[in-house]
Amino acid sequence: KQKLKDNALLKKSYSLAKKNWNTENFSWSTSLKRSLIDVFKIDRLRPLQLQTMNAFLSNEDIILVMPTGGGKSLCYQLPAVISKGITIVVSPLVALMEDQLYGLHRLKVNAMMLNSKAPKEDVKTIMMGLIDNKSDLRLVYVTPEYMAKSNRFMSKLQKAFEMKRLDRFAIDEVHCCSQWGHDFRPDYKFLGILKTMFPGIPILGLTATAPAKIIVDVQKMLDIQGCLVLRASFNRPNLFYEVRRKLSDKDKCTEMIVNLLKNRFSGKSGIIYTTTIKESEQLKADLRGHGLKVGCYHAMLEAEHRTKVYSKWITGEYQAVVATIAFGLGIDKPDVRFVIHHCISKSMENFYQESGRAGRDGKKSTCILLYRLMDVFKLSTMVFQDKVGLQNLYKILAYCLDRTSCRRSLIATHFEETWTKSDCKEMCDHCLKSQQKKELDIGPYCRHLYQIIANAAQGEQKLTPLKLIDAWYNKGAAALRVAGVPTPKFPREIGEAIVGHLLINGYLQEDFHFSAYSTLTYVKKGPKSGLALANDHKIIVEMMDH
Ligand code: ADP
Ligand code: MG
Repeated sequence: KQKLKDNALLKKSYSLAKKNWNTENFSWSTSLKRSLIDVFKIDRLRPLQLQTMNAFLSNEDIILVMPTGGGKSLCYQLPAVISKGITIVVSPLVALMEDQLYGLHRLKVNAMMLNSKAPKEDVKTIMMGLIDNKSDLRLVYVTPEYMAKSNRFMSKLQKAFEMKRLDRFAIDEVHCCSQWGHDFRPDYKFLGILKTMFPGIPILGLTATAPAKIIVDVQKMLDIQGCLVLRASFNRPNLFYEVRRKLSDKDKCTEMIVNLLKNRFSGKSGIIYTTTIKESEQLKADLRGHGLKVGCYHAMLEAEHRTKVYSKWITGEYQAVVATIAFGLGIDKPDVRFVIHHCISKSMENFYQESGRAGRDGKKSTCILLYRLMDVFKLSTMVFQDKVGLQNLYKILAYCLDRTSCRRSLIATHFEETWTKSDCKEMCDHCLKSQQKKELDIGPYCRHLYQIIANAAQGEQKLTPLKLIDAWYNKGAAALRVAGVPTPKFPREIGEAIVGHLLINGYLQEDFHFSAYSTLTYVKKGPKSGLALANDHKIIVEMMDH
């Protein structure tokens, strides 16, 4: 029976996908075009926008997967503007809603928002607007929490539905429905009742999170299995991707960034991402010390101050903003020419989004990721409690360790797309200058590290990654060094890369402990250590020359 049902769903989604949504023969096509120009002042639609709007206006349920900045919001805003009733937009963050309301009010579109902090009068206006045929209220933004908690709102919605005033639901950041998503929100579960409570009212789920597993989960949760799924490509052909080894000497690292800003990116605008607030303050001060005009942006600054930094950057007074990831929401600067990651991101997803703030105008822009193994451990203690936090972090570590593959093709696999070298057009470091593939068996080194770990265990000592590598290089505490283990002849970065490879392949693993003030990470043998103990077990990785 289940099989029959699955087959029917498959058939449905297939025929939906086959239908030509990309035409202007629908009854609303003329008015859609007119409002696009008159209200939104936009002259051309971007890929998939027309398809999405046509299907949505045809009352189909849709999941739209499109990279951030691709223009998802217009897909429900424009249909709302040309309709008489109400569109409910579910959005997880008040800051996101505020951005959108600000934009819509400038275009003279009547939109309001409901959340736990909404003023009483606003709530009243919205509740009345929902059931008033004469109201010109078009969009109501609401948090899932508010929906789940407010019976008053739900009963007004029901009334609006009976009056045929409820046109459509849009659910932004719809991956929050799924446990597999990176930011699962329990309140999104409540949205599972929409389909039963409001039969026939179409749902449009929007997200920049692509994995099929998550999409299937979301469909189930929302009870829209077999719905139309539209996917835009995530390839950003104008972005040049580059990974550089981050020098362990802090001043040298700063100098490298100074050099980039003064030469390659001279007169150009960009963002430099750091992990912590402290680092962003420090780097700002260091760069200013070299005469550069940069500002700093993070969550601990007053809103007023942040706005000032932002506008100095927009107007070009600042060449770059040194920021934590708090700097992201609502950035709408088309000519960002470079994004430098001073430290790796938490996941490929984050990296893609952050670096993707470059080159929105379609012109060539550069994304440089500075990588050091030790930075991974700073992040791992922050993310390991997430279900898939560590897994995601190791994926970006693997991206950094990769010595030969096209960066673009590596990013593509993350989004379950396949891009080949020809999609890259030499727009990444590896395609531009192809590297000689050099394979190396790191099995022997693995066994050396195990000896150091065993020795430490005997002395009832735990090894932080730093101590492990120190001991290997015959540095640090004497008790942790092992006489029989040869000191590597290659530079420390290579040693770090070897440890990185062993971690991502399960030969080593991190071991987390809580102390009174922080979480510590130690290194121990990984699940595959049984294999590696045999002297003839080979662990082949691609390595740089050494
Ligand atoms: P997303 O939600 O996919 O991240 P947004 O909906 O916030 O993206 O849109 C990003 C920016 O692109 C906004 O400034 C929006 O006004 C603009 N935009 C959307 N569609 C178009 C279009 N067809 N032409 C020009 N600009 C557009
Ligand atoms: Mg959006």
